[in-house]
Amino acid sequence: MSNGCVYLVGAGPGDPGLLTVRGRDVLAQADVVVYDALLSPRLLEHAPAEAERIYVGKRADRHTLPQDQINALLVERARAGRTVVRLKGGDPFVFGRGGEEALALADAGINFEVVPGVTAGVAALAYAGIPATHREGASALGLVTGHEAAEKDKSSLDWHALARWPGTLVFYMGVKNLPAICRSLIDAGAAPDMPAAAVRWGTTSHQRTVAGTLATLPDLATDVNLAPPAIIAVGGVVALRDRLTWFEHRPLLGKRIIITRARAQASALAERLEALGAETIEAPAIRIEPPEDTAPLATAARDAGRFDWIVFTSVNGVDAFFGALAGAGLDARTLAGVRVATIGPATTARLAAYGLRTDLEPPAFTGAAVAEALAQAADLQGASVLLPRADIAPPDLADTLAQQGATVTEVTAYRTVPDVSSAQAAAEYFARREVDWVTFTSSSTVRYFLEAVGAAALTSSGAKIASIGPTTSTTLGEAGLEPTVEADPHTIPGLVSAILSAAG
Ligand code: SAH
Repeated sequence: MSNGCVYLVGAGPGDPGLLTVRGRDVLAQADVVVYDALLSPRLLEHAPAEAERIYVGKRADRHTLPQDQINALLVERARAGRTVVRLKGGDPFVFGRGGEEALALADAGINFEVVPGVTAGVAALAYAGIPATHREGASALGLVTGHEAAEKDKSSLDWHALARWPGTLVFYMGVKNLPAICRSLIDAGAAPDMPAAAVRWGTTSHQRTVAGTLATLPDLATDVNLAPPAIIAVGGVVALRDRLTWFEHRPLLGKRIIITRARAQASALAERLEALGAETIEAPAIRIEPPEDTAPLATAARDAGRFDWIVFTSVNGVDAFFGALAGAGLDARTLAGVRVATIGPATTARLAAYGLRTDLEPPAFTGAAVAEALAQAADLQGASVLLPRADIAPPDLADTLAQQGATVTEVTAYRTVPDVSSAQAAAEYFARREVDWVTFTSSSTVRYFLEAVGAAALTSSGAKIASIGPTTSTTLGEAGLEPTVEADPHTIPGLVSAILSAAG
């Protein structure tokens, strides 16, 4: 059997956007991914769903897999002809024991490639507003282990050389030894008022920086219970942070927000919240599936040209309808004489992706508003209206249109089914009171999420609730929950703004 290849890939420091393009490409080809702690779970989504995922980092119940066993695992999978990605935090060759793994592969005659990563010592500083080098006064950058500082006589570091270093020093793995590091530098002749900072969980939503001097940093760190992982930076550049802080100004920094909408649709909301500094947890309460009986939608699509109006009340409805149209061997030209209404901007945008402009989008984005706007815009007496909708959609829109004299054809375009796969993870965050916000974007997400997790768990967690609009808020009210904010307009951007204003 021919040997596979092992890619030693740097995963970057935490922010999943800091993975390299090469790293993403090789992950997409992986048969096996071997990964550590400290990685964003989102990185693993670049690997094929069927790839074997092996966690070798620290667990509560057991320690890291010993290095020789990790090496043996890489060799064994590669010998079996698999493409192996060894995903390591930061850069694989910077304090990551990547060198040892590469040597084991070389000794075993296994092909390997090293994909460098953005190392925490540079990235955490950048996100803390600290340039690693600077024309004035920081002509060198030293990456130093903070592991060896404790017993000075046993340390392989030359503290006198470090104290004379003509630039910035960055210590990895140094939290426990922070007092010893600062003392050793001062004892070796460094100025006690030399600026120094610790950056914890750099580049993530939970980033936090404490800054002071070599003399003051140890006490400042104790005051905030500084714990790993953190990078310690020493040098004049640390003072530039006063003028260059950017990331830590993000308004939702440190906020953990649960997203309950279907996974396929969660990203639009997640990206907006993350750009504002939040951490998002996808805990979908629902999944979108085709209807059990697809014949009614297929028939409606085939006959679509005979309707006066088609009313789309969701992005999913648009996708399902055009899927059925294609399935019938037709395309948008069938709709030449048909007018189209959409419930809101997201649905309008999806319609545009199929080459159609909406004729009507109501000023408020609810079913009732669509019916009202439609009645105002057109004489519905005798008009035939197609309504491709969710299996569980409330009947009010169809009823109102019928009252106006329209003949309404309702077809189930898609089903909303409960998805409890991530309820357990959400419940654990609630139990630890580690959730700041839960977002609900439809009544069905409310119902199914509460069924899986329980309203009491949410209430006692102290998490705030964001609702996309009045219908969703009513469903929350029926479960005894009051939304902290309700979006206005009732859109994803509206929901994000509402959270933002409530967060102050
Ligand atoms: N290969 C990695 C370093 C591994 S050693 C790299 O190139 O970044 C682990 C140490 O890296 C931690 O003890 C901590 O000092 C640092 N570290 C890793 N991720 C970090 C982060 N997000 N913020 C601050 N420090 C981090």
